[in-house]
Amino acid sequence: SRYFTINDYPQGTPARELFELHEQALPALAEDEVRIRNTWLSVDPYMRGRMSGVKTYIAPFELNAPLEGAAIGEVIESRAAAFPVGTKVRHMGGWRDIAQLTGDQLEPLPAFDVPEQAYLGVLGMPGMTAWTGLKRIAEMQEGDNVLVSGAAGAVGSLAVQLAKAKGGTVVGIAGSPDKLEWLESHGVKAVSYRDRDATELTEALQAACPEGFDVYYENVGGTCLEAALNTLRVGARIAVCGMIARYNEATPSPGPSNLAMILIRRARMEGFIVFDHWAHYPEFLGEVGPQVESGQLDYTETVEEGLERTPDAFLELFEGANRGKMLVRL
Ligand code: NDP
Repeated sequence: SRYFTINDYPQGTPARELFELHEQALPALAEDEVRIRNTWLSVDPYMRGRMSGVKTYIAPFELNAPLEGAAIGEVIESRAAAFPVGTKVRHMGGWRDIAQLTGDQLEPLPAFDVPEQAYLGVLGMPGMTAWTGLKRIAEMQEGDNVLVSGAAGAVGSLAVQLAKAKGGTVVGIAGSPDKLEWLESHGVKAVSYRDRDATELTEALQAACPEGFDVYYENVGGTCLEAALNTLRVGARIAVCGMIARYNEATPSPGPSNLAMILIRRARMEGFIVFDHWAHYPEFLGEVGPQVESGQLDYTETVEEGLERTPDAFLELFEGANRGKMLVRL
């Protein structure tokens, strides 16, 4: 098995040299173990938090031990009756080509007629996050005006489409011209945050939706949050999903100076971790799965080729190189 480790807990933006590729012979299978050849690896922004050496809502990665992450693969050897050779599974033994796990660490793939890697993106954790934040946290209602930051990423690209399907004005904030174009092609008003301070971004958001927003789906933090707070309607709800603009900061920067807008607009801002809502995964699949299968929902992917490129794929998340879900194909 070839796998990646990190050799330190980085301050600021991680350097490529942080990641080391190792090779190790795997022991013979024990009772209830399976060996899996991974076909797709997921890289996700939350992994940066696990590289900080402190426990947040999840334990930190161990130094010089195989990194973990969501992956999809095929069982190639099995001593677990429920997972015979040839079964396609999802599990957390990513950042490696061959994983050896026990049966209770594996999930069979749901049965929609979609490419298997969709279960790492639009029908996996990021998709479930978009649906949970919009529906269960922000309690989006028919006709609400919705603002989404990080709008062309894995979570954001589903959030904007689910919001759009319920009417109202949907505005997406993203970083590059091709992302803005993709958003516009789905009827989403697109606003760039690049080269704009909070005042300029506020003006751009007000021009896109003069009425203001009932829901803000927060993926980015910083300037995006500051501008979004200025555009809230009375009774707005903010689903705090993530704040990626902050993950690589070596020293915390001051928060939005206008946090009091929550009070003035009687808005509700609520953080959530998708895993707490996982009991609703079947409900999410029942609703979103058929729409992905039929092509009604668009999901884009950005794919890096080969295990060696896994750290690069991860680091590119912080440069905005991905549209839709960032994946590694083995
Ligand atoms: P994305 O596919 O959205 O990839 C990250 C994107 O973030 C980049 O493409 C880039 O897009 C944008 N970005 C990166 N750095 C910055 C920056 N400094 N300022 C503004 N934008 C930046 O990732 P995911 O969809 O997987 O995750 C989106 C958010 O959701 C993250 O904050 C993540 O932590 C969070 N999350 C939370 C979960 C929960 O349970 N609460 C579960 C899953 C994800 P651009 O080109 O537009 O800048």
